[in-house]
Amino acid sequence: MRWLEVSVQADGEAAEAVSKVFNRYCRGGAVVCIDCSLGLATVKAYLPLDDGERRRRLEEALWHLSQIYPIPVPQFRELAEGDWAAAWKEHYPLMRIGRHIVIKPPWLEHAPKSGEVLIELDPGMAFGTGLHPTTRMCLVELEGRLKAGMRVLDLGTGSGILAIAAAKLGAAKVLALDIDPIAVESAQRNVIANGVEGIVSVRCGSLEVLGLRSGVGGPRSEAQGHLTLDSGPRTFDLMTVNILAEVIVALIREGLSAYLERNGLIIAGGIIETKETEVVAALEEAGLAITGRRQEKDWVTLVGKRDASLLCTP
Ligand code: SAH
Repeated sequence: MRWLEVSVQADGEAAEAVSKVFNRYCRGGAVVCIDCSLGLATVKAYLPLDDGERRRRLEEALWHLSQIYPIPVPQFRELAEGDWAAAWKEHYPLMRIGRHIVIKPPWLEHAPKSGEVLIELDPGMAFGTGLHPTTRMCLVELEGRLKAGMRVLDLGTGSGILAIAAAKLGAAKVLALDIDPIAVESAQRNVIANGVEGIVSVRCGSLEVLGLRSGVGGPRSEAQGHLTLDSGPRTFDLMTVNILAEVIVALIREGLSAYLERNGLIIAGGIIETKETEVVAALEEAGLAITGRRQEKDWVTLVGKRDASLLCTP
């Protein structure tokens, strides 16, 4: 089969938005090559050459996006099958993150050395290949802060990468939630591929799964297509929420931190620098003290700790 490579130069939030469109229309999702040319990030993806309809829908979606973000016209390049396989694999080399985490795509052989935490990840359709700086920073924080036996909530799990890492780093139980059914499917596949299905439960939904949203108190909420949590932990020692500043603020205001144990930690990523103060304010209002901060380019990751003196429980 012949393939088309589509690429768009975009940075920051625009790159995020382009990746989302690519993830919807292109095989295997988007890859972001940082500093490829002119110091800008380029987002690339691949689609079958003979699928004109898919290309048309992709171009249409990108055109709509260009009305919101200043992105250039997409560039298309025809590839032969062999080139595609090579191009694809080149974008997913073995990745070392933090001190011990190694992420590999399924097609690479790697015998883990002692102490290495190996995660096999098929990029699939969901965002979260470990290439994105926010995911990388969350992984580093997770590695530094997770203690054996912890109960973890991964809200907005995407490919499941943070949930799988938590399990492999020693968490006793991990609940991985996502509102996107495609992400849930991909996370479930990755959880099984990594043999951590005994530790990680993947569910479709968000706070209502924890029973936090009103009117969703029963054991099942089929009306919304979401499952509530009928077993497993309802409070957590650690949460990862790598979504977007606005979503994090909304989740905190809806009472997410009440599901954190006293002294529990929340690792919040996906925060564009300009929105950091809003997130800090929301975390502090909810009784969380900021105990860590990382930044890569304009992305910020914050660590909040639930104040031990707060007595409110969910
Ligand atoms: N945790 C992964 C993926 C982050 S992308 C990583 O660190 O790489 C963010 C994910 O959050 C997306 O898959 C999106 O579908 C999901 N999401 C967005 N809003 C959400 C919400 N309110 N509740 C749960 N998941 C949400």
